[in-house]
Amino acid sequence: MDSRIPGLYKLDPEDRLSEIAEATELSQEAQNKITTQGIDAAEAGAISENVIGTIEYPLGIATNFVINGQDKLIPMAIEETSVVAAASNAARMARSTGGFRTQTSGPYMISQIQATEVDTPRAAKIDILDAKENLIELANEQDPVLVKHGGGCEDIEVQLIETPRGKMVITRLIVNVQDAMGGNAVNTMAEALAPEIEQLTQGNVSLRILSNLADRRLARASCTIEPSELETEDTDLSGEDIRDRIIDAWAFAVGDPYRAATHNKGIMNGIDAVATATYNDWRAIEAGAHAYAAVDGYGPLTTYEGDSDGNLVCSIELPMQVGTIGGATQLQPVAKAALEILDVDSANGLAGVFAAVGLAQNLGGLRALVSEGIQSGHMSLHAKNIAIQANAPEHLVDEIAARMVAEEVIRQDRAEELIDELQ
Ligand code: NAD
Repeated sequence: MDSRIPGLYKLDPEDRLSEIAEATELSQEAQNKITTQGIDAAEAGAISENVIGTIEYPLGIATNFVINGQDKLIPMAIEETSVVAAASNAARMARSTGGFRTQTSGPYMISQIQATEVDTPRAAKIDILDAKENLIELANEQDPVLVKHGGGCEDIEVQLIETPRGKMVITRLIVNVQDAMGGNAVNTMAEALAPEIEQLTQGNVSLRILSNLADRRLARASCTIEPSELETEDTDLSGEDIRDRIIDAWAFAVGDPYRAATHNKGIMNGIDAVATATYNDWRAIEAGAHAYAAVDGYGPLTTYEGDSDGNLVCSIELPMQVGTIGGATQLQPVAKAALEILDVDSANGLAGVFAAVGLAQNLGGLRALVSEGIQSGHMSLHAKNIAIQANAPEHLVDEIAARMVAEEVIRQDRAEELIDELQ
């Protein structure tokens, strides 16, 4: 499969889908689901409450990705302009050096059980750890299917924390959730263990829920960009200048949380779009990402360095609580088709894709920010769309778009005039 599909943007949606279907050998059933858009209000009522209808997002495909040596086409559902284009662009820049390499720490979620008003917290900690084997067994009895798939509770830890309401004893279940996001699975286990923990601590057990700071479930990605790939026609900056400015932009985010928040938002543009396309819980991913970014004082989730050959080396590391089964992932036919396009065989594989997309998104955004700025990118994309809409011949699209941007008149009637003038 080749994820480079030049000119995809010029096709109409039906022909684009045919191209993508051909490249990914997408089943006819999945293609039909994409064109019929999924679920009606009655079906949506099985997912959420007080449903009165459904709402749609544009579903686009980011091209050019190579992840761990495999070409990948990336479904992205998002209402913001330029996101899919920026991700595709950055992925193209990474191709000459082999694309993205990814790594994951394993699908481990943490579930917490809160015990308050414990008289002897240190002794309670020892009692809980002493009962570890029994507690793990009880946790795993709650989910034989997960255990059958190689997952389950593998460890129990205890933390004593100081709070404005006194010391609390926090029991942590470390659960291998395999291909699930794991929210329901680990919450069920925590609830089942609560009476035992209450007895062991002689305190009051209140909260029993997962932590979205899923730092045992990290996804990492990296790529190397040659300076020549960074050059753009829109500025006189050399590739080396742009490389150095990107590293300075990253350093700005390290030094200033106001910048870091927007830097990380740029990462989440890509990640949330893939989460939406696959019906993964983007609130969980967002919470995990920003909490992880704040662990040592809020900072950027990506890193940019120069190597001794003058290349830009880009990397990302963040919690990635995503699933290929469970939650709502199997309830929306278009989301199922999106997973089919992604062609991943595990939650770990999916987490690596999310990390690569987040990195590409951030790189694409920074490259534009340090050179021509993002507004002109938005405008030129819009102008190109208008030129194509006016039936500009392929060889004139860029010129007509550039003229309309320069004139600050981006309208179909102006594009039609320019076609007549230039032909
Ligand atoms: P789930 O319970 O629907 O599915 C997971 C279950 O599928 C497992 O427990 C297991 O029994 C079964 N399973 C079958 N094959 C499996 C395999 N190969 N790997 C793993 N499990 C397999 O869903 P979930 O993933 O436990 O929970 C996800 C949901 O939890 C999401 O919808 C999320 O929105 C929600 N949630 C999130 C939070 C939060 O993030 N704070 C809190 C509560 C609920």
